[in-house]
Amino acid sequence: MRAVCLEEPYKIYVKELPDPVLADGQALVEIKLCGVCGTEVGGFKGVSPVVKYPVLGVGHEAVGVVKAIGEDAGGFRVGDRVSLEPYITCGECHSCREGRCNNCVSLQTCGVHRPGMMATLFSHPVPLLHRIPGDMSWEQAVMIEPLSIGIHANHRAGVKKGERVLVAGAGPIGILAALVARAYGALPIIADPMEERLDVCRRLGFELLCNNSREDLPGLLLKVLDGSLPSIAIDCSGAVPVVECLADCVRHGARVVFVGWPKTVCSIDVSWYIRKELNLLGSRNSNHEFLESIELIGSGAVRATELITSIVPLDGAPDLIRDLAERPGRHLKAVVRINA
Ligand SMILES: [Zn+2]
Ligand SMILES: [Zn+2]
Repeated sequence: MRAVCLEEPYKIYVKELPDPVLADGQALVEIKLCGVCGTEVGGFKGVSPVVKYPVLGVGHEAVGVVKAIGEDAGGFRVGDRVSLEPYITCGECHSCREGRCNNCVSLQTCGVHRPGMMATLFSHPVPLLHRIPGDMSWEQAVMIEPLSIGIHANHRAGVKKGERVLVAGAGPIGILAALVARAYGALPIIADPMEERLDVCRRLGFELLCNNSREDLPGLLLKVLDGSLPSIAIDCSGAVPVVECLADCVRHGARVVFVGWPKTVCSIDVSWYIRKELNLLGSRNSNHEFLESIELIGSGAVRATELITSIVPLDGAPDLIRDLAERPGRHLKAVVRINA
């Protein structure tokens, strides 16, 4: 098989690797599309706190067709179109036992801690396969995993109808989180320093937008929202100055959710978190939220394909990831076509 391999920072190649063998409880999947995530870009630049080199196959946002399946087929058959949930959990730690599997103490994400899905063939545990509805396109389906991250952030925040939700960072995850908040009946306000990204938000019908390239976010929000601050902030930017000012961006008693990984240590003024009695929440990956993601995309409640800015063939993946690292403003969700 062929796979996109990241040997060390800045060394990324398409390589020939041995085909995976079908193990018990697994399915062999012919991968159709695999999205590129910030994780791959961070891994390429050597700034990801989680990537373990070499990564023999990057990527964790894949969809494909079942080519072979063992005895415990879980109702799946050869030829089924599937989305692959990429989080391998131990099933035994306290988080797993409490049903918070995304928070497993020995969590392994495909393409991060173990081989990933930008490969012509991939072996994956059957319980982590999700059937794609017959009328859903591959382009819609490849957005299932990233959308599940936005869903999880909304669940962590406990977003309710009518609430004002600040989403900081209009990358794919930020826009998807805002689309979910809107689908829940909340009122998202999106902040980003790149005007091209705010234009995408405008096209998707978002009206409350802040360009925080020159002005501080708290001041901008007071202007845009006529003095009433949001009850929720979801940070998808991982930008240190944004993270450090979030306590000033929300009203008393608000929930502040961190999704984007900052590249350096942030200092937060804890006294403001006490004074305003804020809830500070981390949000990592997603937790059994693929079915809701399939539902939101399938019903048209979230038009996730509008975030796809390019689809390149497998051989173009290394250049694509390089370009994402060098010129992030040119891309939103970039996708690799593995098998036609
Ligand atoms: Zn991702
Ligand atoms: Zn566990």
